[in-house]
Amino acid sequence: MRLRNIRGSREKIAGSQYVIHEEEQRAGTWQEIFGNDHPIHIEIGMGKGKFLMEMAKEHSAINYVGIEKYSSVLLRALEKMEQEETPLSNLYFIRMDAEQIGKVFDKEEVDRIYLNFSDPWPKDRHAKRRLTSKEFLARYDQILKVGGQVEFKTDNRLLFDFSLESVKEAGWNLKAFTYDLHHDPELMKGNIMTEYEERFSALGNPIHKLIADREKN
Ligand code: SAM
Repeated sequence: MRLRNIRGSREKIAGSQYVIHEEEQRAGTWQEIFGNDHPIHIEIGMGKGKFLMEMAKEHSAINYVGIEKYSSVLLRALEKMEQEETPLSNLYFIRMDAEQIGKVFDKEEVDRIYLNFSDPWPKDRHAKRRLTSKEFLARYDQILKVGGQVEFKTDNRLLFDFSLESVKEAGWNLKAFTYDLHHDPELMKGNIMTEYEERFSALGNPIHKLIADREKN
């Protein structure tokens, strides 16, 4: 998702209390930032932030961090946060490319990573950019706790099959998967729909989901 460039979006982001800025983006400081030692769950490529905002409201004892590459998209999430009557103290956003994720989280600092409707990058030569590629799994391996999970949802069958392979090749454990999440009562428990999930399931597209955890070492 890339929205039209919005004038002043960088300045608005720079002034937002809901965004962790570059100078604060240091691995190992999240307990300080949140003021507690609750588990940290992140969404990479969060778009306009609906999923994380609903998760943060439902799970107040989990700390959430939303990562989004584009200012124009992050701005939409900030606008939504500003409309909340009670500010959510367990959710922050960062504008960054997830390639740099290792600079922002320390080894084993993260308990769970959500990837929702990640960009498919259909050309083979761009496979490394897919957020479920073995290159990205290696980055997640650095920051996830032992037993920490990646949860991935998409309606894109090619990307999903690529991701199942990639998880296997990287030596991660595939804990569960389905090609039709919305008809899978077990995996649907507690499911929060993302913006893209609402849009694509309304078109009748089945939603695929996998849950994987890293090999213990
Ligand atoms: N997760 C949302 C949902 O399910 O509704 C948005 C899905 S949208 C297709 C993918 C989002 O991931 C876009 O907002 C895009 O800018 C962001 N994104 C893609 N690659 C990224 C990266 N390397 N780092 C951070 N964000 C990224």
